[in-house]
Amino acid sequence: MSEALAAARRIADEVLFPAAPAVDAADEVPRSHLDLLAEQGFYGLASPESTLDVPDYPAVQRIVETFAGGCLATAFVWMQHHGAVIAVTESGNETLRSKYLSGLTTGTVRAGLAAGAAVRPGPPLLRATPADGGWIFDGTAPWVTGWGLVDLLHIAARTDDDTLVWALIDAVDRAEITTTPVEMVAAQASRTVTMQVERLFVPRDLVTSTMPLAEHRKGDPESLRFSGSLALGVAGRATGLADLDPAELDAARDGLHHASHDEIPRARAVAAELALRSAAALVVHDGSRAVLTHEHGQRLLREAGFLLVFGSRPAIKAALLDRLSP
Ligand SMILES: Cc1cc2nc3c(=O)[nH]c(=O)nc-3n(C[C@H](O)[C@H](O)[C@H](O)COP(=O)(O)OP(=O)(O)OC[C@H]3O[C@@H](n4cnc5c(N)ncnc54)[C@H](O)[C@@H]3O)c2cc1C
Repeated sequence: MSEALAAARRIADEVLFPAAPAVDAADEVPRSHLDLLAEQGFYGLASPESTLDVPDYPAVQRIVETFAGGCLATAFVWMQHHGAVIAVTESGNETLRSKYLSGLTTGTVRAGLAAGAAVRPGPPLLRATPADGGWIFDGTAPWVTGWGLVDLLHIAARTDDDTLVWALIDAVDRAEITTTPVEMVAAQASRTVTMQVERLFVPRDLVTSTMPLAEHRKGDPESLRFSGSLALGVAGRATGLADLDPAELDAARDGLHHASHDEIPRARAVAAELALRSAAALVVHDGSRAVLTHEHGQRLLREAGFLLVFGSRPAIKAALLDRLSP
């Protein structure tokens, strides 16, 4: 096992998991959790400046899985950060890179993500219109996680000719940005909001890249692979607590890590269904006490329900309905 994974396991088992029932009932992930992940280098997971010992991509995914099995809300906030790290790393905008890459790597600067509103099929919910010196962003991002816990937002808006404009903006409410918290059955402490953007001027020097929507979509399967590890984390925690046979979990992990792009939706569905069944098995294993609000069984079952829909796509939904429908 790599040192980074061993450190992730220690954090998950000794800090995140013991606090998970309290975080489940809280409005906000403890900053101490995020600070610890930063101190231990985990905010730099995707950075070329990272000093973490992470040999390959499956090792990255094991870390995501491990944190999710410790505390889903904490893992959920932390995982949104990495897109900004990659964007700044790959950006031709040298000023942004030199301003932010080190801070994003150490986690002294933390980022969230607002992508879905621009990249989903159909008309964009967030539009970009050219303006003198930059762009005007207008519209709604229905889901933005980590508001109040992040400094920057990696945000995409789409032009009328299907070009995505990606930028790094300050993640603060202001006249042009208003947010409304959403009430959820799980991971409420992730501070997920709906964001309304009204004629926000985004100067060119905050733009990380512009790219055709079709080009962006080519990277979607890998992002689905990445977020699929959340369900494995929930499944793994329930499997351990209920003393279940881990063979199915191992197979689901292997399936997700090694799926071809076409196979990823099915592998995501397998992982999500396994999380649901494992959490349900834990509830049954623990008996009546599992329904008490501080118990892990009911929390993991709600988290597994949440992961049936988070980061979904039509092919994942179809595969899950196929597996779950009577
Ligand atoms: C609790 C929660 C927190 C979330 N936090 C964030 C966040 O911080 N940042 C963020 O950008 N998104 C976030 N999302 C959105 C998430 O990534 C997906 O967009 C969403 O889970 C898909 O939900 P849906 O199937 O209901 O489709 P809808 O949201 O109704 O989307 C409509 C269609 O667009 C597709 N679609 C949605 N997003 C994308 C995408 N990125 N690429 C390609 N197709 C897409 C969906 O598959 C669906 O077919 C969050 C979602 C949830 C539930």
